[in-house]
Amino acid sequence: MAGDGAGRGQTRATDRDGMRLENHVFERLRDLLPTSIATRTELGAVVCRARDGGLSDAEVKVGLGNTVDIGQREPNCGCPAGTTPVAFWHTHPVELFGTGPGTMHGEADFSPPDLDIADDLGIPAFLGSWDGHFRRYDPVPRKSVALPGGGSAQVLRTDAEGNVVKEVRKPSTVLPRMLPTSAPRAHRGPGPLIINVAPPR
Ligand SMILES: [Zn+2]
Repeated sequence: MAGDGAGRGQTRATDRDGMRLENHVFERLRDLLPTSIATRTELGAVVCRARDGGLSDAEVKVGLGNTVDIGQREPNCGCPAGTTPVAFWHTHPVELFGTGPGTMHGEADFSPPDLDIADDLGIPAFLGSWDGHFRRYDPVPRKSVALPGGGSAQVLRTDAEGNVVKEVRKPSTVLPRMLPTSAPRAHRGPGPLIINVAPPR
């Protein structure tokens, strides 16, 4: 979200939108990361922006395993009609990798498949990790063109042999505020957090 000097007003608006988004995700992770860690359950969701700018989450997905599925293959990435998917977040609740189908990410940073999703969708990714770090990754910018029949297509650069050129990724950013990793907030009761789990597809 660094200002590019292209119009101060535009830059400020972009920064304000970016900060609203970051605040929204921080509040969600602040509420959910301690539970995610305590239950060793990976959580994630797509963030949807309404026309009035209001932010909300699509369904929170539970137990993502080592292949992140935050609903990105659903129509509109799971966001309600009339809203736009603008980011996604998820958690890395455990330091150690497991084995088998329930394997979770152990790194505090994004995994390469996480970054692929952000690049494919063209939206930023946020991550809350077992160590309390709050990270953001901004996707590689892609140029898209409008198609005559409606919709759009991404333009991929190719080399002389016609192979798609892999764009260089910027490293993720560790945001300068820490997330709680334990001690649920006082208003929450002792019971487990109940989240609706989408049936496997
Ligand atoms: Zn991940």
